[in-house]
Amino acid sequence: MENCIFCKIVNGEIPSDRVYEDEYVISIKDIKPEAPIHVLIMPKKHINSINDVKEEDLQIISHIFKVAQKIAKQLGVAESGYRIITNCGKDGGQTVEHLHFHLLGGKSLPISIG
Ligand code: AMP
Ligand code: ZN
Repeated sequence: MENCIFCKIVNGEIPSDRVYEDEYVISIKDIKPEAPIHVLIMPKKHINSINDVKEEDLQIISHIFKVAQKIAKQLGVAESGYRIITNCGKDGGQTVEHLHFHLLGGKSLPISIG
């Protein structure tokens, strides 16, 4: 996908601090962390948002949650706890239109949602 910043990160055109990579998924440190641990987990395949997940993408989505489990362990927050968020669209606060899941932890996160 041209001009997608996360596709450029996936293919190495833009540098990133990678914490995990496999055939389907990468995870990078968020450039503007909002918690001591703040990484993004995304499919290598360009999917705009959770709205655009198709039947054939469901395996990747479940794989992402398995990867999240591994990363949480790797980054030392599996026991202390963490939060996984995906923002969708304008009201959801999505700023990058390539599906990604924030994994946040390393402190007690605020409970407020809206
Ligand atoms: P969202 O607002 O849910 O679309 O999240 C986009 C996230 O991507 C934000 O938390 C940004 O800080 C993060 N971000 C934007 N550009 C980069 C980049 N080049 N490397 C790492 N994280 C980025
Ligand atoms: Zn993309």
